[in-house]
Amino acid sequence: MRIGVLTSGGDAPGMNAAIRAAVRQADALGHEAWGIRQGYQGLLEGDMAPLPSRACANILQRGGTVLHTARCPEFHQPERRAVAVANLRAAGIDALVVIGGDGSFRAAEALQREHGIACAGIPGTIDNDLPGTDRTLGFDTALNTAVEAIDRIRDTASSHGRLFLVEVMGRSSGMLAVHTAIACGAEAVLYPESPDDSYETLVTHLHTNWLRGKRSSIVVVAEGDSAGNAMAVGDRLRRDHGLDLRVVVLGHIQRGGSPSALDRIWGSRWGAAAVRLLDAGQKGFYLGEVAGALAIQPLARVLDPHPVPPGDLGELVGVLSR
Ligand code: ADP
Repeated sequence: MRIGVLTSGGDAPGMNAAIRAAVRQADALGHEAWGIRQGYQGLLEGDMAPLPSRACANILQRGGTVLHTARCPEFHQPERRAVAVANLRAAGIDALVVIGGDGSFRAAEALQREHGIACAGIPGTIDNDLPGTDRTLGFDTALNTAVEAIDRIRDTASSHGRLFLVEVMGRSSGMLAVHTAIACGAEAVLYPESPDDSYETLVTHLHTNWLRGKRSSIVVVAEGDSAGNAMAVGDRLRRDHGLDLRVVVLGHIQRGGSPSALDRIWGSRWGAAAVRLLDAGQKGFYLGEVAGALAIQPLARVLDPHPVPPGDLGELVGVLSR
């Protein structure tokens, strides 16, 4: 088999581990791996070439993706996907390993359903917002990056007795925000799936903490929270309550950096497993981790609306910040 490997959507630490493992497992099974650059954009432009095992040296520990990534709006059009498939066939590529988030998986599902291209998905997104897996590549690294940054902010917050709002990524998911908040002992967290009117609850909570003698607070705000981003929430708190606060948007530093050991390990396991399953004739699946074990899900699972709420961890943040 000739197996194409691409990374698509937002880059995530651990993608390189998955690329390396897919390439080397393909090599070990007597298949040929090809690298497709810039995700689906590269498929449309025919930007692909053989990717030998040796070309994957020293990438395991690097953040980002050596294959580059892109958003490719054209891929929503069936006639553009047909062009991509013609390019794949011209290169003799039989199967695809797609490393990306749910958008990338939707595209892979369409390629498989419309054109019979054998597709395997590896969850690569720092948001951890895919159904059927407890983990996505990059989440663990991004979480640790955010926690480390907030630990630094904590020093200055407590020295000055100040309120900080810290915005973290996660698109429409509160997974990263809630886990970050628990791990850095935040006083509160605002996130999209929050069950209550989080702005009002936040104000009450900060006031109660103040009466208890707490002078500095850190509030983690998910970028997709319904109360608005951290800037908007900060403006509202200043306007409504005259609070002297600071806003920090962690932004893209959460995306970069050397992947954690866990992201390297799961990237390696998923990259190799994707190729082994394709070799065994499976197609139309993506990989995950459920309760510590490797899980296999049908690609079509991403077509259903699938909020993955962060459970009761959000409430725990409030309980632990007394
Ligand atoms: P992610 O994979 O991280 O969720 P996006 O949602 O941006 O990131 O998707 C990555 C790319 O996948 C898009 O730029 C587009 O090329 C392709 N894609 C996303 N959704 C679809 C869809 N419904 N049909 C076809 N292609 C899609």
